[in-house]
This record gives sequence, structure tokens and C-alpha cells, in this order.
Amino acid sequence: MSCTICPRTCNIDRSAAAGFCGCSSVVRVARAALHFDEEPCISGTRGSGTIFFSGCNLKCIFCQNMVLQNGTLGEIFSVPRLARTMLKLQAIGAHNINLVTPTPHRDALVEALRLAKNDGLSIPVVYNTNAYETVETIRAYEGLVDVYLPDLKYVDPRLSLIFSKASDYFDTAIEAIAEMIKQTGFLALDENGIATRGVRIRHLVLPGCVFDTRNVLDAIKERFGTDCPLSLMSQYTPIPECRMKPLDRPLTRREYDAALDYCLSLGFTNVYTQDLTSVGRSFTPPFSDHVEI
Ligand code: SF4
Repeated sequence: MSCTICPRTCNIDRSAAAGFCGCSSVVRVARAALHFDEEPCISGTRGSGTIFFSGCNLKCIFCQNMVLQNGTLGEIFSVPRLARTMLKLQAIGAHNINLVTPTPHRDALVEALRLAKNDGLSIPVVYNTNAYETVETIRAYEGLVDVYLPDLKYVDPRLSLIFSKASDYFDTAIEAIAEMIKQTGFLALDENGIATRGVRIRHLVLPGCVFDTRNVLDAIKERFGTDCPLSLMSQYTPIPECRMKPLDRPLTRREYDAALDYCLSLGFTNVYTQDLTSVGRSFTPPFSDHVEI
């Protein structure tokens, strides 16, 4: 079957060759564990049951999880093992199941989520994505995913082409996010402040690119309004593999403040901001070919 799961539409048979995302027909998982570095409404006090998938359909040159980009790191997981892993994470207290970079693995994940829910998975399922998705793929998760965390990275096609090899990024991502909101609404929290359902749009402010952060915020306001929940992230950390200016340095406090001031001036009412100590801090957990859980 030729793969059209994401907007790359490689049209290749993944049982014969890997696609642009680096994924063949198997699912590789590089970490499954309780994770405490998400927003408080996701990590809570007991941690988010996070499953990190190997392979990615964007090739961001500044990616914090670069070791996962080509899809070769990680242990092969069958559909039943994926479902069992979700149930184990629930059993050790996870607030939710957090699927990180799930895009290329749609067919296995839809099956695994159905299986896990049938076997007692009851905590919310979080879909943590770069937002470079087709509407059809997001529709496949209707009724299976509770919370969407799309990272809307750029509006400017020059940036998305140079930094992530996707000149159509914004036009594609905004439609995928519209489908996520149509399915689940804006983010809702329980009495303890933990996410139960809905969408929060993330945006990582990039060094030297505050102009495009303004474009992103304008676009969100225009399409979804100022009640749309946002996370304005400051945690950009330069990696040795990326020497391109201005991505070779951390975000400055002045840049983050400028982005936040603009966000608030637009009237957004529900904005999660990161402590400025997040600037330059590494959020990359250890990945491996052997998954403990
Ligand atoms: S999921 Fe991978 S193989 Fe399929 S279209 Fe996207 S990049 Fe290509």
C-alpha cells in the first residue's frame, strides 16, 4: 500500500522501503516512561505516560530529538505491545498517554488505541504533533484522541522550507488544527488542573524569528480567536549539528519578552508561558533501542 499518511504523500510501499519520515512498516519506540517536562496540565504531579516514536515527517534542522529523526533508533513494537504499554503507563499512575511524534504510525496507533481502550484504558490520550498532518489522518483519530497539542511552528514559507523542508507547512498545519478543534474543542481541565479534552496550540519562539512568531499569533487569532489556548515556549536550545544563523544561539530574554508582549497585546486570554530559566535548558530525555516498560 502506498503511504499518504502525511502531507509528504511519498506514495511508497513502506513494507519495501522507508519514506521521507524514515519509517518502514514497523513502529519503533525510543522511550516509554513517565515524563515531567510537559506543561503542568499534561505532566501533573504523577507524570505524563509518554511514548516517543522514532521517525519524523518534518526534518527540522534544529530538532532537539535529532537522534530520532531518521527512524532507526528504538525498539520495534507490535500493535499488542503498544496497547500493553499504554495500559502499563496507566497502571503506574500516568495522568494520560502522550504520543510524541506519532504521525507516521497512524494505522498501528489507531489499532493499538482501540485495543487498549477495549482492555481498560481510561485516561486521556494526548496527540503531541508538529502539526504537519493531513485532515484525513486527524479524522482517523476521532473518538480515540482526547487532547491535541499541535506545535504551530511557522507561517513564513521561506522559514518552513529552509528549517523544516516544507514550504506548504502553514497552509497544511492550520487546516489540521482546525480539524482537531472541530473534534475536541479548546482545552478543558479537570478540578486538579489536568487536561481532559481539547486543543492547546504550542509555539516555540525561535531566535531571530520573532517576526514570524507575530505572524503565527496573528494567524491563530484570525482563524480561532483569542480564547484559543496557547503555550508560548521559550525552551529553544541550539544543537551542535545546527550551525545556521540565527539558530546557532539560544533565544534571548528580550526576544521572548517581545513575543509574549505581542501575544498579550492581541488579547489572548489563555496563555501558558514558560519560565525564562527554560531558555537554553535541555528537555531531551534519554532514548534507546531498549525500552524498559
Ligand atoms: S508518513 Fe512517512 S512515508 Fe508516509 S507520506 Fe509521510 S513521510 Fe511519507
